[in-house]
Amino acid sequence: MPEREPTIFDRILDGTIPCYRVYEDDHVLAFLDIGPLSLGHTLVIPKERVAQLHELSDDAAAALGRVLPRLCRAVMHATGATAYNVLQNNGSAAHQAVRHVHFHIIPRFEGSGFQISWEPGSLDEATAHEIAGKIRRAVSHEP
Ligand code: 5GP
Repeated sequence: MPEREPTIFDRILDGTIPCYRVYEDDHVLAFLDIGPLSLGHTLVIPKERVAQLHELSDDAAAALGRVLPRLCRAVMHATGATAYNVLQNNGSAAHQAVRHVHFHIIPRFEGSGFQISWEPGSLDEATAHEIAGKIRRAVSHEP
C-alpha cells in the first residue's frame, strides 16, 4: 500500500492541534467540523490511519459502524434537528479534502445552505445485469 501523507486529522489524533471533541473510544474519535455546514456538523474518524473507506480493516469499520447511529442520535438530540445527512467522501473527484477516512454527520434544518446536486440517470436492463454481475463477482472474490 502506498505511503500515506500525514493529515490534519493525524495531528488532531496526536493531540498536537485541538478539536472540539464530542466522543472518543479505543478506535474512534468524533469532533466538530471547523467549517460547519450547519450547527452541530460533526466528523467521525477511525483511529486507524488510512485515506479511504475501502482501505479500512474490518475491525476499524465495525467500531465505526457500532457508534455512528449513537452519534447521529446525540447530534439530533443536541441540535433539535429531525433530519441529517451522513456523508463520506473518498478521493478528490468525490470532494475528499482530508485524506483520512471520515464521516460527516450534518444536521439539516429547513432553509439551511447545504445543497446536494443529484441528477439521476436511468438504468437499462443490459447495463444493470452487466454491472451487478461484475460487483457480485468482485464481492465473492474478497478474502
Ligand atoms: P472532506 O471534504 O475531506 O470530506 O471534508 C473535510 C472536512 O474537514 C471539512 O468539512 C473541513 O471543514 C474539516 N476540517 C479541515 N481541517 C480541519 C481542522 O483542522 N479541524 C476540524 N475540526 N475540521 C477540519
